Amino acid sequence: MRKLTQEDLTHLLDQKIFHLISEVADGLGMECYVVGGYVRDLFLERPSKDIDVVTVGSGIRLARAVAARLGAGAHLSVFNHFGTAQVKFHGHEVEFVGARKESYSHDSRKPVVEDGTLEDDQNRRDFTINALAVCLNRARFGELVDPFDGLWDLEDRLIRTPLDPDVTFSDDPLRMMRCVRFATQLNFYIDEETFEALERNRERIAIISRERVADELNKIMMAPTPSKGFVELSRCGLLPLIFPELAALEGVKKVNGRGHKDNLYHTLEVLDNVCLRSDNLWLRWAALLHDIGKPRTRRFDPVAGWTFHNHDFVGAKMVPEIFRKMKLPMNEKMKYVQKLVGLHMRPIVIADEEVTDSAVRRLLFEAGDDIEDLMMLCEADITSKNVQRKRRFLDNFRLVREKLVDLEERDRIRNFQPPVTGEEIMAVFGLKPCREVGVLKAAVKDAILDGVVPNEHDAAYAYLLRRAEELGIKPVAP
Ligand code: ATP
Ligand code: MG
Repeated sequence: MRKLTQEDLTHLLDQKIFHLISEVADGLGMECYVVGGYVRDLFLERPSKDIDVVTVGSGIRLARAVAARLGAGAHLSVFNHFGTAQVKFHGHEVEFVGARKESYSHDSRKPVVEDGTLEDDQNRRDFTINALAVCLNRARFGELVDPFDGLWDLEDRLIRTPLDPDVTFSDDPLRMMRCVRFATQLNFYIDEETFEALERNRERIAIISRERVADELNKIMMAPTPSKGFVELSRCGLLPLIFPELAALEGVKKVNGRGHKDNLYHTLEVLDNVCLRSDNLWLRWAALLHDIGKPRTRRFDPVAGWTFHNHDFVGAKMVPEIFRKMKLPMNEKMKYVQKLVGLHMRPIVIADEEVTDSAVRRLLFEAGDDIEDLMMLCEADITSKNVQRKRRFLDNFRLVREKLVDLEERDRIRNFQPPVTGEEIMAVFGLKPCREVGVLKAAVKDAILDGVVPNEHDAAYAYLLRRAEELGIKPVAP
């Protein structure tokens, strides 16, 4: 965090947009401040484009006057229902709101709102670091108003509520998710009292919509080290409430003194590994879910020890269920995650045995354009602390990657469509759509993937005739 003096703040706000708001507010005789995330991010030197302005009086009135002053370049949207208005101007988005006082009832996160002072407005904010305000009126331009020592908390890297945390969290339980999210995004600590209130109020999360919880989870997922957020969610007991399938990965079972690794902590390590290499939210989700099938497939075998047979397959089947429940998109993003979860053991199995052309060709065929992401996931999945073992896997993965490039050039298997189509098969043998057509088509595909037949029409066609003859299927006379 940087230390900013009064002059520094004045200097940072020395932008056309702030001077203009200042003049307009002075003209109307309205007290006004920049507040919340924008001010916090000035101190943290984080880029932020959304500016929140709070005024003692009507936010809409001030916004209208600012928009009028800006003229044609500005775009005004008024939300009468919320008493707010937004002005877009040259890439800035400024949200205007009147200072308010809020009071909550037990069963809703929608408060009763009345007009209030700046102090009332700061009291209703979620964290001390989000309650900083800087005055824009000319006489006090750049003056920081920090009633809860948010600046100290920025310095100590602390997330702390301005008022009693039990009240803050119980009033609006979404703040519990925001608490963990900010700790993760900013790499801050959660203050002890605030953390204890998370534990005490966690059941209140039930009144928050799944969409909002998912929004916060996605923000945690996009942080540089998302594991931090999931560890906090687990520590305070929110995780089983918002994501029971993930919480079920935690813990080590022992039989006859033999335990397996803790699958939650392994998963989080894989997730962080992927995050070092990719910003793709959905690849990150695939990493989070790659072992989600393990609790349902865990068995103890006296000889083999702990096994999780088919956890890839079971996990892939759980993906749509989880996405639907968490209100994540049920579209091609989900399908992509499902595919990677279902395929995540394949490169490891190949790398564990001999890396054959045939196995790599099949992998390329099934993964298609997502092969690169799948390899990234699998490399991230090698979290073994045994250096030799890790080395061996990574070396074999390198071999798989080399073969992928080589086969791709030779056979063009990615997005491959077998050169003999079902229609052609039906025409050649005089068949209607039936089982035989499927069998012959699969035989041609397998022969190409196994490298028995090159990926070309004439060779595939000749192979088709041979296979059909073996099966006693005769071509119709030409
Ligand atoms: P970011 O935009 O990076 O997510 P932010 O702090 O700007 O962070 P917003 O959701 O944009 O967060 O909200 C702006 C400000 O409004 C916050 O800084 C905070 O002061 C206040 N705020 C937002 N949501 C809540 C809430 N649920 N309870 C209390 N105050 C809130
Ligand atoms: Mg914001």
